Formats: sequence, C-alpha cells, structure tokens
Amino acid sequence: MELHALTIHELQDKLRAGETTAADILASVCRRIDAVEDKVHAYITLTREAAELQAAAADAAIRRGEMEALTGMPIALKDILCTRGVPTTCGSRILADFVPPYDATVVEKLRAAGAVLVGKTNLDEFAMGSSTETSYFGATRNPWDLDRIPGGSSGGSAAAVAADECVAALGSDTGGSIRQPAALCGVVGMKPTYGRVSRFGLVAFASSLDQVGPLTKDVEDAAILMNVIAGHDPREATSATVEVPDYRSFLNRGVAGLRIGVPREYFLAGIDPEVRVAVEAALGVLEAGGARLVEISLPHTEYCLAVYCIVAPAEACSNLARYDGVRYGFRAPEGRDLLDMYKQSRSAGFGAEVKRRIVIGTYVLSSGYYEAYYKQASRVRALIRRDFDQAFTRCDVIATPTSPTAAFRIGERIDDPLKMYLSDILTISANLAGIPGITVPCGFTAGGLPMGLQFLAGAFQEGLLIQAGAAYETLAATGPLIARRKRERMPLD
Ligand code: GLN
Repeated sequence: MELHALTIHELQDKLRAGETTAADILASVCRRIDAVEDKVHAYITLTREAAELQAAAADAAIRRGEMEALTGMPIALKDILCTRGVPTTCGSRILADFVPPYDATVVEKLRAAGAVLVGKTNLDEFAMGSSTETSYFGATRNPWDLDRIPGGSSGGSAAAVAADECVAALGSDTGGSIRQPAALCGVVGMKPTYGRVSRFGLVAFASSLDQVGPLTKDVEDAAILMNVIAGHDPREATSATVEVPDYRSFLNRGVAGLRIGVPREYFLAGIDPEVRVAVEAALGVLEAGGARLVEISLPHTEYCLAVYCIVAPAEACSNLARYDGVRYGFRAPEGRDLLDMYKQSRSAGFGAEVKRRIVIGTYVLSSGYYEAYYKQASRVRALIRRDFDQAFTRCDVIATPTSPTAAFRIGERIDDPLKMYLSDILTISANLAGIPGITVPCGFTAGGLPMGLQFLAGAFQEGLLIQAGAAYETLAATGPLIARRKRERMPLD
C-alpha cells in the first residue's frame, strides 16, 4: 500500500523500523495531492516548501534517535487556526490576505511534536455552515462522490483525510463541524470537552461552543493527536486545568460491561432510514461485544437547534465586530468617511451566510429582545446540560447517529438555511452542554456513501469515547472495510 494511505501509527511503525523516511512520506502525500486535489479542492493554501524543511528536520531527528509523538506526520490544519507567516483566511474574503504573526497553541504543539504541516484546509466562511459551500474560495467536494458536499464546516479537513491528501487534520466544532463532515467523508472526528483543547489562535465563531479537535483515519490516530493537543494553556481563559490522561491507554479496553445509553429522541423523524438501520446494526455489534444498551431520554432535545440558532449567532456577531477594515483584513477602497468605510468593507468582505448570522445575532441581543431570546435560550441551554448530567448517571456513553443523512448534493440545501441547519440536529447538543463527542464510520448507504456513529460522554471523559470507538472499530472491522471500499469506489484515480 502507498504511504499516503496509511495511518499515523502505521507510518510511525515504518519510521521506527527504518523502512521509510519523513521525506518519502511527504513526497507520497504530495503526489497524492497533485493527483486528486483538482477534483476534491480540500485546501486553500499548500505549504509544501515549509513542509519539506520540516520533513528534513524530522529525518534528522530520527537519525539522532529522537522521535516525538508526531515526528514526520503530514498534517493539515483547518484554515481558521492561526499559523505564523502562513495566510489564515477563515474561508472569507475579509481575511483573504491575513497573515497571522503567531501560531495557535495547537499549531505550536503540533510543531513541537514533530509534525509536518502540509497546508490549510477549506471551510465554510468563518465555520458557519454544514457543507463547505459558503467558502469564498469555492466548494470542497466529497471524495466518495464528487457531486456531493463533504459536510462542514471542516469539510476540507475531512475530505483531505478521506482522500489521503494528509494523514490527519485538525478541525473546529461549534455545532458539529468536526463530527458531521467526518461522518460524511467516512473518517473519525472528535470534538473534545469545552476547555480540553486550547482555543488560543482559533479564530472565534461562538466562543462558548468552539473547540478544536482531530479528524483521522482511525480511532488510534485520534488518541495520538489528542495526546498532543489536549491540556491547559495559560493564554486561554476557558482552558481547563484537568489532568490529561494517556488517551492511547483506552484503546484496547473493549466494551464488555460498558453501559451505552440510546436516547430515543435521536432516532425519531428526520433520520434517514438507511442511517437508522446502520446505527441500529452498530448498536447490535456493540451489544454482541458485551456492552449493555440502556434506553435513555434527553427530553429537551427538541429545543437544541432553536437554542443554538440564538446563542451561536449572538456570540458570532460580537466576535465578528472586529473585522472593520481598519487594523487588518479587507478594506473597501471607496469609503467616503469612516462609517461608510466600515459598511462597505463589511458588505463586500462577508458572504451571505455570515451576514445572516450577524443580523440574527444583533437582533437577539438588541434591547427589548435580549430577555425574550438570548436570556431564554441560555436558560434552556442549562436544561439541555442537565439532561446529559442525568443521563450519565445511568450510562457511561451515549450512542446516536452523527448526521441524519449521508452526504447531500452540492447546491441541494444552500438556498434553504433551515434545511442546512438541520444537518447538525444530532451534534449541537454536545456543544451546548460542553461535553465531548466522537464519530466513527459505521458503514455505507446503498449508494456507497459513508455514515457515522456518534458517541457522547460526560465532560473530560474523552477516554471513554476512544474506548467505545476503538472497540466498535475492532468489532465491526470498519478500518479494513473503509480501505477496501476506498479502492473500489472513490472516483479519484
Ligand atoms: N453547521 C453549524 C453552523 O452552521 C455548525 C458549524 C460549526 O460547528 N462550526 O453553525
């Protein structure tokens, strides 16, 4: 098998055995990018020259016998993570020329762990979307079917991992933006607990919901990346001081005796029958593996989307106030005075979806409406959190579908925001409650599109997600399944 098709841990075995070099691994990934990127368009910026230097440094380190957690691993970054000296666009015209003077903490950590950073991946503008169609730089395509969306907003990261254009990637998840595209592209994606991974240098969308996390080819790789990126950051006020376990130690624990909660509200109307059948089959596999299925209820589930659609835009409109054309970013040349310059810069710099969120956010925060909308949404959010607290007294993890449908066609939902928002109906509750979630591939539709199984756990219980996800992968043998289907089906070669 070609090097670009392997996982982090497989490549590390080869490096350790002296069977390959970081330079060879990067060359393989670059050849793959040359062969398929025209069709997929996963990247906004490629940083090949810098990556070659990093690969050379990795090989030198290996010769000295110094192997760090990610030495020589070609990793991609969602283009919402600040990278020193490398454009960070957030998929927006307003930041098209922005070059940050510093690295996000997670980027620093990847560098320190020896990673080779191959490029910045495409996303919905400012991570607002579920399809990667709202990017100023054009849409990304799903490698399993090029007429379909890869999910979003971390669609570039998910597509790049699925198409072997990198070994793993980082994304961000505010309402599902790691898990939904991972599910739709047939890869693993994890949203950590709020506060588990530093948000320093992650361009803010909705600060009380945003988290950075990994998109990988299997659960073991997710554990490896979590070991690197998790942990306290004194530069980030909401960063948790909770100790970080070795996430790899959860890999081979199996599910015997694990109580898996199945929330009835997540299997109701709107879930595609194929997805429901696949997830129910997955639950059967887990039960056969010794897990105990427990029926649970999360009674406030029906309010999650409404709460999210108030809280996220409210925070977004505040965060986006900084893009005024003055200090950095796009500035319209023809402003008559300061106010007019603001207006023109923002009108031309932001796309339609971002403007929609700014308008909604401004409305729900405005005097007279604040109590009725934002305050009320915050109250309901507390109830949603309490649902999970109560559920986790009866089960260790919760299992649900990740996305109600497999990948939809490009253009299918772009003019219907409500339909687009429904893509996240099963993922946003975790962001509202601040708890971690993982998606693992759980098979294909009759049309050959991947589907995902989501596990949720209590705060800082990422280890349980790794345990359940890895156990499912082994029991259902999804790793090899994906590889086989990939060779047969991806319309890339
Ligand atoms: N799709 C959701 C939205 O449009 C979530 C996006 C995200 O998680 N960044 O807001």
